[in-house]
Amino acid sequence: MKILSVNAGSSSLKFTMFEMPEEKVIISGTFEKIGLPDSFYTIKYNGEKNRNEVVMKDHTSSVKILLDELINYKVIKSYDEIEGVGHRLVHGGDKYTQSVLITEDVIDTVNKLIPLAPLHNPANLIGVSSFKEVLKDTPMVAVFDTAFHQTMEKEQYLYAVPYEWYTNHGVRKYGFHGTSHRFIASEMSKMFGENTKIISCHIGNGASLCAIKNGKCVDTSMGFTPLAGVVMGSRSGDIDTGLIPYVMSKTKKTFEDVMNDLNKKSGMLALSGISSDLRDVEEGYLSGDARCKTAMDIYSDKIADYISIYNTELQGADYIVFTAGVGENSSVVRKMVIDRFAFLGVKLDEEKNNTRGINGIISTEDSTIKVVVLSTDEEVMIARDTYELINK
Ligand code: AMP
Repeated sequence: MKILSVNAGSSSLKFTMFEMPEEKVIISGTFEKIGLPDSFYTIKYNGEKNRNEVVMKDHTSSVKILLDELINYKVIKSYDEIEGVGHRLVHGGDKYTQSVLITEDVIDTVNKLIPLAPLHNPANLIGVSSFKEVLKDTPMVAVFDTAFHQTMEKEQYLYAVPYEWYTNHGVRKYGFHGTSHRFIASEMSKMFGENTKIISCHIGNGASLCAIKNGKCVDTSMGFTPLAGVVMGSRSGDIDTGLIPYVMSKTKKTFEDVMNDLNKKSGMLALSGISSDLRDVEEGYLSGDARCKTAMDIYSDKIADYISIYNTELQGADYIVFTAGVGENSSVVRKMVIDRFAFLGVKLDEEKNNTRGINGIISTEDSTIKVVVLSTDEEVMIARDTYELINK
């Protein structure tokens, strides 16, 4: 059965087609700069990558090109061979605890949640409507970034702010990257059994940690928005909100400008003064750049802080898992973080930590908490949910 896994952003659309239930990737691709004059797309098939520059005025034009390419590449003969489309939706509020088949009701609810995710939900919904326009009768599934975190208790998700902010306006911690953390929980249970306590560290350009007990989320570091938690590529992570009016008055910036600075001009970009890309900051650090060293120290400190919190919340974690771009690839960051737990007897096996592409345990036999590297796969998780829901 052929299933498409889709992630639509405001000017981009990524897709992967899977043969399910084998979870075999058939073809994948990315459409970028949709709506701009220099839009283009790349398709990856059989180990080859092809780039095409085509003006795509909107997402529906990209979807049409995508489907025609599937026929050109002979992966399908007609559109009805696509038996389901799974869409990544960022915000499901507290309404969705798991993935659901998309109905008019679901679209209506996600529309109502737009104020909680003004940048992401509208773009995700455009993805849904574009596919619906072309594949009218194909079942579609919504996979929410927030859903996995809905098992958090009030102690974890409530902020100490006026209670009616929560009751009247839904101000609470929601958490994000849920599909990735759920994938990690699922892989870990296949590898090490179900009754484990895991700290999942999704460290990419965006980054969040998640405490997982027996496959369920106990706590997570992102909050009401994806700005909270650890230091990220260009996002600040946790700050004292009191600095916002101070900066506004000192710089005469508007509230929107300051929020833009916190989302796009902060994090590793601001600390290093070089780049939001961890590879560049790491290179600076290794060649002795002082600001890059401070940036890397703060970065790993914040990750270690959250690991400490979750180790306590879990009353002793069994595993710390590193995943996503930085977590999977940077042995330097992993070492800087884990070295901070030497006092607890957590120890890396240096050789395993330095092995490129490792997917498994990287700590020593006697490490008190096992450290694991796993590559995450949100696309396959979307395809799994879609396959399951349309076969129910
Ligand atoms: P993601 O958001 O998961 O795609 O992760 C993107 C981040 O991963 C970027 O900051 C990259 O610099 C970082 N990254 C990718 N490969 C490496 C690597 N080999 N070493 C360090 N960081 C990496």
